[in-house]
Amino acid sequence: MDCLFCRIVEGSVPALKIMENDKFIAFLDINPRTEGHCLIIPKKHVSSFSDMSNEQTGDMFVFVKEVASRLAESLEAKGYNIFINNGKAAGQIISHFHVHIMPRYESEGIVIEAAFPVSEDAKQKLKETQQKLEEQPANKYTKEIISW
Ligand code: 5GP
Ligand code: ZN
Repeated sequence: MDCLFCRIVEGSVPALKIMENDKFIAFLDINPRTEGHCLIIPKKHVSSFSDMSNEQTGDMFVFVKEVASRLAESLEAKGYNIFINNGKAAGQIISHFHVHIMPRYESEGIVIEAAFPVSEDAKQKLKETQQKLEEQPANKYTKEIISW
């Protein structure tokens, strides 16, 4: 399979690596939305979040945390966004699972915030979503998730 991020892992496509361990690599996004915007990938090809083992997921997020802290400190960021585009419909372009870390400096004009106050229509839609989730008998977490 021809995968751009696998090529970065094997070194045939260059990337500006910022951290690495035996399982994961963090490198700068070629098209950064903010200074220091980087991607973290597992060295072993996995397309989707759901295909990651629990152990891999745990290890990866420990690594993500370490990269985020160092990045924010080194670049004097005020905060950072961590996000995953999982699946084409969610904007995943490269089908090698990756986590974005986007340092924030308070001056970029990028808004990823909730809108308040929440409209009555939106509240009604939330209730419908809750009902849909409750209809899934296998969803043992639903009650906890929706208790807020
Ligand atoms: P996605 O939309 O799949 O979550 O994000 C893919 C990201 O990979 C994009 O932000 C894009 O800028 C980045 N990207 C695409 N090609 C390359 C590349 O060749 N090198 C690097 N470093 N980043 C890339
Ligand atoms: Zn790959």
